[in-house]
Amino acid sequence: MLTEEQASQLREALMQERRRLVRNAQDGLSFSMNRDRDKIGRDSIDESAEEELFSTELRLRDREKWLLGKIDGALDRVKSGTIDDCEDCGERIGFRRLMARPVTTLCIECKEQQEKEEDIHATPASGGNFGLGGGGEEAAPSEE
Ligand SMILES: [Zn+2]
Repeated sequence: MLTEEQASQLREALMQERRRLVRNAQDGLSFSMNRDRDKIGRDSIDESAEEELFSTELRLRDREKWLLGKIDGALDRVKSGTIDDCEDCGERIGFRRLMARPVTTLCIECKEQQEKEEDIHATPASGGNFGLGGGGEEAAPSEE
């Protein structure tokens, strides 16, 4: 179990990350709005701009949506005091690891184990790989 102070540090880190994600999404939006402004006149923009900002969260990219979900889950776990329980083996996740990766649900041992298993289950020629399917195994980076 984390101390009060550790929990609040972690909560702060998570909130910062959350704000950063939402801000990124908004930056992306204003960028696309600026582009649209060149194409179509200004008047039609102002109406839709508000609407778009309103639906910012809906328009987050998949990865950001996924991360936001993880962050919200982690914030819940901070609240319930289970943030440092490894989901897999139930051991404590070190505070330093949590600060480096606040959304993690696994201790370092289980994480490494999981990555090994993902390697094994990864299908090399699964298509959608920019036509690189087949013969690419040699290029896979190894961390050993
Ligand atoms: Zn574990």
